[in-house]
Amino acid sequence: MYLVGVVPGPRSPSVIRSQISHSVKLAVDDLQKFRQGVHFTRTYNYPGGRLCKSLCIDIITDALACREIAGFPSPSSLYPCTSCHLKKSEIGNLDRQSWPRRDLREHKRIAQAWWDAETFAEQQTLFKSHYLRWSEFNRLDYFNIILYTPSDLPHTGYLNAAQTHFREIFGIDFEKPGGDGQPISVSDPNAMNVDVDNSHDRTNRRRHRKDPKLQDIIYRDMDNIFLPTWMNSAPRDWGSARRGKLKANEWKMLTLVHVPITLIRLWGTHPVERKRNMLDNFMALAQALRIADFYSLRRKDVFSFNKHITHYLKTLQELYQASDESILKPHHHALMHMGEDLAFMGPNHARNTMPCERYIHFMQNRNLNNQFGMFHIIRLIVSN
Ligand SMILES: [Zn+2]
Repeated sequence: MYLVGVVPGPRSPSVIRSQISHSVKLAVDDLQKFRQGVHFTRTYNYPGGRLCKSLCIDIITDALACREIAGFPSPSSLYPCTSCHLKKSEIGNLDRQSWPRRDLREHKRIAQAWWDAETFAEQQTLFKSHYLRWSEFNRLDYFNIILYTPSDLPHTGYLNAAQTHFREIFGIDFEKPGGDGQPISVSDPNAMNVDVDNSHDRTNRRRHRKDPKLQDIIYRDMDNIFLPTWMNSAPRDWGSARRGKLKANEWKMLTLVHVPITLIRLWGTHPVERKRNMLDNFMALAQALRIADFYSLRRKDVFSFNKHITHYLKTLQELYQASDESILKPHHHALMHMGEDLAFMGPNHARNTMPCERYIHFMQNRNLNNQFGMFHIIRLIVSN
């Protein structure tokens, strides 16, 4: 791994003023030189020198950083998607053929106009009209900024979609009594907290706190499961305030291993049809994410991914949507595009943020300010 640089803090650059362009420009300048070829006068394997050529093949970030670097609008804006012009109000539309796709030539024309604007106010006016800003990556003539900014599986799949399902759909929360996942008003503090025994009396909180809730049963099952040594179990107290935020890999273990084991046992032959439908819905998400994590892919795997993720989002709306406003979020829509990315770029494992996140975590936990001589530690590790 080659660390080009770190954007200086203490705060992240202003998105509105596209301040990150100043840092990205330095990397893009290097990429342009490497496109033509840079001659190294001497390398370990080639004492007589070697011509090195490089290309940027995609941008790997979480959704927010992708918008900052590539000039797309925020996921909460009118147009939350980087691949199409589907409006946020239409996010529940699962018909891929009906989505108006972004056009690269038009995208570059608008981004260039934003860059050429003479005042900040003019840039703001253009952004309100087209919801696009300039990105330094537009300078790379071979780079398709619409195609080469795929969503990242650890963030989109596990930290967003899976976590949303546990927290907002199942409503797993120590502070709430149980429910049965029926769509009720979101203003109700007890909304959709899944209780496995289907008791639903919210007037007696003390009684409900004694009832076994979904997470309690999952905890018990986790204690009784022996995993292979190469699999890391999710933390025993996941979901509690004491544990805090889980990592993407821990949400992955819950989604693909622990929760399916418990839910299939509880709801697989449950007499209440809604419970079986809730299981079917969750398993569609687990199956889709499992395929998205494959180390090699065949065409039929991509079809299978698309089938499961579409089924998951369709039944998610049928089971849990309480009003005309779609229950789906921009990250759900991004998952609908992930099948295209898998077909176009291949398996996710070779292009996700996991390795980068590990190095970011490593560097964030070290205070190197004014400690000269410490930098070689980072350099040694990132070059492994
Ligand atoms: Zn889209």
